[in-house]
Amino acid sequence: MLKVENVTKYYGTFKAVDDLSFTVSDGEIFGLLGVNGAGKTTTFRMIIGLLDKTSGTITLNEKPISYDVTNEIGFLTEERSLLTKLTVKEQVIYYGVLKGMNESDILKKLDYWLERFNISDYKERKIKELSKGNQQKVQFITAIINNPKLLILDEPFSGLDPINVQLFMDVIRDLKNKGTSIIFSSHRMEHVEMFCEKLVVLVKGKSVLEGELKQIKKEYRKKNIHVEAVGVDIEALKKVNGVVEVIENETELVVKIASDENVNDVFAFIKKCKEVSKFVVEDATLNEIFLEKVGVLYEN
Ligand code: ATP
Repeated sequence: MLKVENVTKYYGTFKAVDDLSFTVSDGEIFGLLGVNGAGKTTTFRMIIGLLDKTSGTITLNEKPISYDVTNEIGFLTEERSLLTKLTVKEQVIYYGVLKGMNESDILKKLDYWLERFNISDYKERKIKELSKGNQQKVQFITAIINNPKLLILDEPFSGLDPINVQLFMDVIRDLKNKGTSIIFSSHRMEHVEMFCEKLVVLVKGKSVLEGELKQIKKEYRKKNIHVEAVGVDIEALKKVNGVVEVIENETELVVKIASDENVNDVFAFIKKCKEVSKFVVEDATLNEIFLEKVGVLYEN
């Protein structure tokens, strides 16, 4: 389990992380979110021991961060950092040895992962000769070759095609199921929704929203109602109690309401329309919640 407790980081007089606390249990995927400059990279660097914190404590399985502990952490950085003149095999051996592994163990694991990512043929090829997506696979393998207890993934899917996004997702889920604690950071909220049970959102280094995703969505009273019906008077629907917006899509209407208390009012209205084939109430998306909670604070 990773425990971050009351961590603050100053760069000179600038406070980049402000009294941040969260925990990531074994086998949990935790979202660390925020707009550009919110303090995510600073937090990652403190967790992996690259940066000293100004105050607070960080422990992995109750041990403070040290070389021993960082050997048990894997980090896929947002800015890709491969040694492109090396072959795939040389690159992974280099990092594996840095993480305290012996070469035969590295090679065994490397063969497994190359096959899993469908790039066994590239083992002896120079990294610079690989496509961007395949380079990203090598970077991912480098991050997990040491079988880390904690894995930090910063925008792991950027630049990947949908098939490879799926492949990465399957591997990430397998690692989670084997007990790896995972911190996931992305600006793509739909990816965060697919993965994270718990999350924290930072604005200017401070947590402004945190907890279980399910609970956050439940507590956010605004909902979206998806409707399919014939002959709906849109202008009249917009005037129904609690209706904030009506979006007309190709196949359905999306009715945004201010509170779950307004569902019945909308239902009473739609009931009177013809051929009602859909009336589905859904929680707001994480993207909507993020934009509302963070947008205002970000601008001020
Ligand atoms: P992004 O999503 O753009 O990667 P981030 O959330 O990772 O952003 P950080 O890189 O942690 O944000 O930066 C947090 C704040 O600290 C920013 O205002 C940044 O300008 C500042 N900062 C980062 N590194 C330094 C440094 N070495 N010296 C001074 N200020 C810094």
